[in-house]
Parts: sequence; C-alpha cells; structure tokens
Amino acid sequence: MDKPVRLRFAPSPTGPLHIGGIRTALYNYLFTRKHQGQFILRVEDTDQGRYVPGAEEYIINSLKWVGLIPDEGPGFGGEFGPYRQSERKAIYSKYAQQLVEKGEAYYAFDSAEELNALRDSNGGNQKYDYNTRHQMKNSVTLGMEVAKKKMDEGDPYVIRLKVPEAQEVVIEDVIRGRVSFHTSDLDDKVLIKSDGMPTYHMANVIDDYLMKISHVIRGEEWLSSTAHHVLLYKAFGWKNDMPAFAHLPLILKPTGNGKLSKRDGAQFGFPVFPISWIVSDGVEFSGFREYGFEPDALLNFLALLGWNNGTEQELFTIDELIQNFSLEKIVKSGARFDFEKGKWFNQQYLHKIPETEMVLRIRRDFHELNIDLKDDDCHMIYELYKDRVVFSKDYCDFGKVYFEEITHYDKEFVEKKWKPEHLPAYQSIQEIISGIQDWHAAEIETRLKEFVKTGAIKPGELFPALRVAMSGIPTGPDVFKMIQFTGKEKFVKRMEQFIQYLKR
Ligand code: GLU
Repeated sequence: MDKPVRLRFAPSPTGPLHIGGIRTALYNYLFTRKHQGQFILRVEDTDQGRYVPGAEEYIINSLKWVGLIPDEGPGFGGEFGPYRQSERKAIYSKYAQQLVEKGEAYYAFDSAEELNALRDSNGGNQKYDYNTRHQMKNSVTLGMEVAKKKMDEGDPYVIRLKVPEAQEVVIEDVIRGRVSFHTSDLDDKVLIKSDGMPTYHMANVIDDYLMKISHVIRGEEWLSSTAHHVLLYKAFGWKNDMPAFAHLPLILKPTGNGKLSKRDGAQFGFPVFPISWIVSDGVEFSGFREYGFEPDALLNFLALLGWNNGTEQELFTIDELIQNFSLEKIVKSGARFDFEKGKWFNQQYLHKIPETEMVLRIRRDFHELNIDLKDDDCHMIYELYKDRVVFSKDYCDFGKVYFEEITHYDKEFVEKKWKPEHLPAYQSIQEIISGIQDWHAAEIETRLKEFVKTGAIKPGELFPALRVAMSGIPTGPDVFKMIQFTGKEKFVKRMEQFIQYLKR
C-alpha cells in the first residue's frame, strides 16, 4: 500500500449506535491493525436538528466496551483534529468559497415555497439539477454581483454543488467492483446550509481529504452518496487523493427480508444496541452488554456477519481476525442477523474464561442477591453448569435455586410424567438418601442405581423427578452431583415438600 493507512469511523450522534455501526467500526479497526495504520473516530455532528445529547458519549463508551479504541478522535488525541465536525465549521466555509470561485458550486436563494414548487412540478419528481437550476434563484441565473448583494443584505442562502452535465461517475468499490452513476440522476446537492453548517457530503469529503483517509469502509446505504463525493473530489482537484471505497453489505433481519432496524430489537426480543440506551422519557433499551455478552464474543460474531476467511473457521481471537481480515473476502449480499448464533459465540467464549475468573463472577453475582457463597460452592456451581451456561450470569440464574425456596414445579412434568404409584418409590429414596454416610456424588449414584434395579421405578421416571424436587425443573446437570450439592438435609426436605405438593 503506497499511502499510509488511515481509516475513520464516522458516526453521527443522532441516537444510540446500532450493532451494524459496531461492525463498521470493527472492520475499520481490523483493517488498520492489519496494515499498521491509524483508526480514527470522527464525530459527524453537523446536523444540529438531529443531534441527540449523550449520543457521542454513548458511541465512545460502546467502542471502549468492545475494545475498539481509536488512535485519534475526540478525547483520544491526534494531529488532524478537531475530530468533531461541529468544531470545524470555518474550515468547510473556506473550502466552499473555493468551489464557488472555481465555478464548481454556486449560491442559491430559493425559498422553501419555491423549492416545493419545483419538487411538485413534473409529478413530484423534479430535482434541483442542471436541467432546472436555470429556472431557479441562484448565482448562476442572477449573476455573481446580484448574488453578492443579496448576501450582503442578509438574504438566506445555501451553497450547491454544480453537478456537471451528462457525465458518467464511476466508483471502483473494493467490495462491489465497478459501480456507475449518471449525472442526470444526481441533484445539485446542498453543500453549505443556510445556518452556515456543511451538509454530510461536504464535511465528509473535506475531512476525509484533510485527515488523509486512505480507505472508506462504511455501510451500503452510503454507496449512492459516493457519486456526489466523487464529483466533489473532482471539483476540488483532489481526485488523486480520493480514498478507496468499500461499502459493506447490509445486516438483515432474522427473517432475511429487509435491513435490521433499531426497532427490530423490541420486535424480535434481542438487543440491537451494544450497551444500554436510556431514552429520554425513562424507557431503557438494554444492550448486548446488559444481555450478558462478552465483548470479544460479540466482535467475533459481528466479524462473521458479512465476512469469512474462506474456510469453515468461526472462532477467531481478535489477533486472528486481524491476521485474516481482508476487504476482498467481504461478501456483497446482505448478512442475516441470527441471534441464536450470537449466543453460540458467547457460549464458546465462556469456555475460554479461566475457572478462577468465572468463580469471581459467580461470587459477585450471588453477592448482588445477598447470597454470600463459599469458595467451594462457587467452584461446585461452576462445575455443575459450565456446559449449560450461555452467559456468565446464567450460573447465578441456575445456581440460586439451591439457596432460595422452591416456589414452582414444572407444570408439564407434574401433569404428564408424575403418577401416584411413584409415591412409595419417592419415599424410599428419602430414606436411602438419609442413610448415606459418605456424602458424595459417586456414593449417591451407587445407592440410587441399586434402588432402580429393584424395579420400583424406571430411571427415566426417577431422575427427572429428583431434579424437579431439587430445582423445580426436570432438566439440569448430573443428578447425583445436584444431590450432593443440595446437601443431605436440604435434599430430604425438598423431597418432603415435593411429595406434599404432589399429594395436594
Ligand atoms: N456520518 C455518517 C454515518 O452516520 C458516516 C458515513 C460515512 O462513513 O461516510 O454513518
């Protein structure tokens, strides 16, 4: 690569970052790390009407949580700042003037009514473009002198790009290949708004140029804007400094039809934001963090939504992702968001966490329930549930049953599997268990298996019942270990409570 590799993640603080934003940030990050480049955070906050307080902080906290730490950005240092576009207003107006002077842009004074009238003509499809600009009120039709006078008099105005007539605009997208647009489809985009603020297109291109951005990796929804961006690079005479463009495939709803939207979380019952977002009226959307995701697992899951290294490998450490990542291996078609797969990744990552660390978490989670666990108990809960947990908080969800009263028994089990003729067997079990001196799972197993051999009850009927008695549900880990952990006295009591319940 000839130019230094500098990539930016450029979110607008208009609300919480969607999980697709984290994927975009991740791909930018992986690419820069692979090529020893710089990963830059640029906050695109020029649309003051859509600015949401707290959103910038949210974006930064989300990036920090997943560990995608910018090398440059607001609060991160760097020599190309400021990295917040609202602090760069003067820069954009200077460049806009340059374009006007070069005849590549012009001042426009049209009122909202005039613009509406233009739009409404021709069946509501009319654009402000090279066919129509001659009928409008701008420095092209009025002449520069009149335009300047109007501006001196305080008439509101915008600056528009003078899109050239009848040209093909070609984008060589790294992922999509050659994508071409025709200027007859492109309007004279506003570059500077009447409040003096630049539009997204203007600020984005100027900043990519000034920040020496080598590659733009962003969502597919920006592909059509790129045509205007290419025209802007040409208009400025910066064509040779234009970054390479790579437009990522969409992340699709689990059903596969349509883009995964911020609203889909509520509809499908999974998070779509990295960390929780508090909506102003007190409503809170919980994020992947609150759901219990390990940040590395989330990154691994997101990395594979639209990219693979051409093999069947699914689990990658962040270093392996960096080594393997390439833009050429990003797919063109949309990637379906499969939340169950995300959970699978989390489960795999939990297996990598050392027992000592997990035990600390188990103790902490129980402590929050006002249950102070001994070391041995934490280890036992870890042992019992390590093959079943998807999130680390599941240890507590599964394990708390040994410390709290049982208030519910699995309805289906009681209705379908329980038969009154099992009662004597349950009573015998209580006696057998009470008599065990060497309190250990192996001994419990031997005694119970001996009992089953008498034919009093089938193992398939007994063991699920014992789980229900101990925990309320018929599924769970090794039943003999469960009994051991429950403890002799508590087990006998729980059997008694269960028998009473069945007899009711
Ligand atoms: N500010 C745009 C956004 O919110 C940035 C798009 C781009 O990366 O150019 O996604």
